[in-house]
Amino acid sequence: MASQEIESLAAALARLPGLGPRSARRAVLWLVKRRETSLVQLLEALAAVRETLVECATCGNVDTRDPCGLCADSRRDPRALCVVEDVADLWALDRAKLFTGRYHVLGGRLSALDGVRPEDLSIGRLLDRVRAGGIDEVVLAMNATLEGQTTAHYIAERLEGLPVRITQLAHGLPVGGELDYLDEGTLAQALRARRPVA
Ligand SMILES: [Zn+2]
Repeated sequence: MASQEIESLAAALARLPGLGPRSARRAVLWLVKRRETSLVQLLEALAAVRETLVECATCGNVDTRDPCGLCADSRRDPRALCVVEDVADLWALDRAKLFTGRYHVLGGRLSALDGVRPEDLSIGRLLDRVRAGGIDEVVLAMNATLEGQTTAHYIAERLEGLPVRITQLAHGLPVGGELDYLDEGTLAQALRARRPVA
């Protein structure tokens, strides 16, 4: 039986995405053994996050300033807007350094199961940004899940009639993927998105 303090720290860690009670306990033990190094670093990083992080009122990114670094960067193309479900998706795309436009974070995906409705996401703010003009292309970069695709479809409908080109990420074979390891959905998508051999 661990002490109350250790139990409550493990319980708090177990609520983090991807961590269950077992790995939370392991993390607590790991931190206790490194209380002067890793634990201090973690405390300082958490305190810094608590004091400085804000949500960008324009795109929904999380940064130390509002507007965020991406929105404020004049080298980025204001004519291309990439719509993602979550900040983690924005960061993943931005790490790839392939998209040079701006972003819009929805804050989730439509879900009948979880009761997430259009008004729960920042779709209204997205429409306002597009209506304000100056955007040529909206890239719908939703996850290749049923809910992600439902969300993309809904947004595409809402954007209809506005003077923008609507594009979507292609889904298909992962780089390095072998055909016989893929699920049928991925294979079907890849086959549908086939293109002429150059
Ligand atoms: Zn921003």
